[in-house]
Amino acid sequence: MKVVVGHLYPDYLNIYADRGNMAVLERRAAWRGIGFDYRPIGLGEAVRPGEHDLLYVGGGQDREQALVAADLAQKGESIREAVAGGAAVLAVCGGYQLLGRFYRERAGSELPGISLFPHHTIAGERRMIGDVLLECELEPGERRSLAGFENHAGRTMLDPDAEPLGRVVAGFGNDGESGYEGCRLDRAVGTYLHGPLLPRNAWFADWVLAQALAHRSGGESPRLDALDDDLEDEAQEVSAGRARSRGGRFH
Ligand code: GLN
Repeated sequence: MKVVVGHLYPDYLNIYADRGNMAVLERRAAWRGIGFDYRPIGLGEAVRPGEHDLLYVGGGQDREQALVAADLAQKGESIREAVAGGAAVLAVCGGYQLLGRFYRERAGSELPGISLFPHHTIAGERRMIGDVLLECELEPGERRSLAGFENHAGRTMLDPDAEPLGRVVAGFGNDGESGYEGCRLDRAVGTYLHGPLLPRNAWFADWVLAQALAHRSGGESPRLDALDDDLEDEAQEVSAGRARSRGGRFH
């Protein structure tokens, strides 16, 4: 068994060690004997729907987002088709913003998005920076915590019927007001949480891996063998503690 992972713009959208999420997925797959076929996707390179089980995109400053936005818009239809076909997505911050309808920078210029996620983003005057803690329920009845770090000027407005990734326990989240963070569309998830996110949220890394495996097998998301996650869980506790003590305050 293996998963094919497409990493969009690894050379442009990669702040706060977002590429570390790939290393975590590769390790957690390997520890279960699952292959990890990593395929970077750069400017001018096509996304072939059905090729990837998981598409990943990290975060970036406005400048880097502006360097990839037009190219990403060209790939928009293929990415939407891939997701409609059951591919999983993990999109972080600047990448998350560009998978919506648009990102309007502070100066007013608008970067096109690919309208995968039902949202749009408008940059505000003050950046939302700090540790974040969410409560998520990605599987009915399974409430889990997600801890990370956010740094964004963008305020992301979800459409009324859109599904958020989680409820904000501490931090700003999508817009600092709604009390929600991220967005979910079937096996596709977008979030503002950096860190990188996955090393301190082992359950979520496994959830993403299981979505990719479900696409590969054309079936349900498998239950993965448990791993010894004491260190990861401790890291989440430390991160969650920081969020509770100082998340969500403008600096
Ligand atoms: N440039 C975007 C913003 O400021 C995204 C930042 C990021 O990826 N951390 O909102």
